[in-house]
Amino acid sequence: MIAEILCVGTELLMGQVLNTNAQFLSRRLSALGVSQYHQTVVGDNADRLEAAYRLALSRADVVITSGGLGPTVDDITKRVAAKVAGKELVIFPEAEEMVRSRFRQYHRDMTQNNLSQAMFTPDTTLLLNPNGTAPGAIVPMGGGKVVIHLPGPPVELQPMFIDQVEPYLHRRSGRVLVSRYIRIFGMGEAEVDSRLSDLETGGNPTLSPYCSLGEVQLRATAGAKTKEEAEALLQPLLDTVKERLGSVIYAIEEDDAGSLAKSAVEALKARGWTCAACESLTGGMIAANLVDIPGSSSVVRGGLVTYQTDTKTLLADVPAEVIALKGVVSAEVAIAMAEGTRRRLGTDIAVSATGVAGPDGGTPECPVGTVFLGVSTVDRRYAIPLALTGNRSRIRTLAMKNAVNALRLEALGLEPATIREGNAHK
Ligand code: AMP
Ligand code: MG
Repeated sequence: MIAEILCVGTELLMGQVLNTNAQFLSRRLSALGVSQYHQTVVGDNADRLEAAYRLALSRADVVITSGGLGPTVDDITKRVAAKVAGKELVIFPEAEEMVRSRFRQYHRDMTQNNLSQAMFTPDTTLLLNPNGTAPGAIVPMGGGKVVIHLPGPPVELQPMFIDQVEPYLHRRSGRVLVSRYIRIFGMGEAEVDSRLSDLETGGNPTLSPYCSLGEVQLRATAGAKTKEEAEALLQPLLDTVKERLGSVIYAIEEDDAGSLAKSAVEALKARGWTCAACESLTGGMIAANLVDIPGSSSVVRGGLVTYQTDTKTLLADVPAEVIALKGVVSAEVAIAMAEGTRRRLGTDIAVSATGVAGPDGGTPECPVGTVFLGVSTVDRRYAIPLALTGNRSRIRTLAMKNAVNALRLEALGLEPATIREGNAHK
């Protein structure tokens, strides 16, 4: 099955509205394993829209439109599709009732032109719109092809697509698609790619990477007649990926809602550990990131923000001599920050971050992006040196993510890639 997205609206062409519907729809379609070869944005112009429909229908089985279902004169999406299908729009009584009840609910008067929202070609399947007035539609276009009309506002389009269009696409394809999201931290995209490139060319299952700040995500998808068959196809691929990447994989899940912090909290919980953070350049981001996870209160005890140098001594008992001798951005200070915080807060583990976030403050010996994380548990103390690049925000975020990952690895009993043993190491 080939699908094509056709977004209608002059506001999109003019850059007034970001085309988030195209991103949403194309992500969902690729997660379903539906092929897409083209995408179009067209303004509210009947001739150009007609040409866009004809072109899209010449190369796709399913054309999904967004926008232009409203009651105003520039809402032409359905009318032009009807023209291309060679059919008339007629009132659908059940759609009229949907529109009327929505107006009653909003305590608004319905004008005659609002009835256009209840008009479709006779063989249309309606899609309910619990979040707005205009129903969506699945419109047969001949030759087994369909146009699926979705409303423009993302709050209306997204649930309509997930709840009503995805089941339709499943039925239509006769296939079940199963996906797993493989989340990776601590290995760059190029390295991941070089280890897995031979797996990324397969047709079924497919493996596709994409990256965000400091992270790489892979989506593995298999299609088959049943869920069990699809899972059986997927498993050997997942096993190979795990074998080749190892502990940089922090989660393999059925959706892409996972996060490094969630995995860290889960690992700490499984270990029965409490944790704390001592933060200089991250200024509370580590604690905030962990506390974002529901249920983190059973593992996160608290944190210290020790931004100015003397607060590291005042709050986390970092010996002033160590700071004077080694510098405030050093492995020794990072370890002492973690150690002092762990003792003060009485946790099983503490992590710390000290570094130069920039743009000022760098020196030749300690350039912007130099960061030391400290880790302290009852058994060991060590620093993780990082040489980060980018702007202040990127450096702070990456320092935070690396610290959260250090908690995860230590709770799992795994080694980070780079460790500098501290002098307090047993
Ligand atoms: P329309 O149904 O064309 O009148 O669109 C209604 C509203 O939905 C627009 O004013 C935009 O705010 C929003 N919208 C329409 N198309 C898109 C799109 N492709 N991506 C994001 N928002 C959109
Ligand atoms: Mg519009």
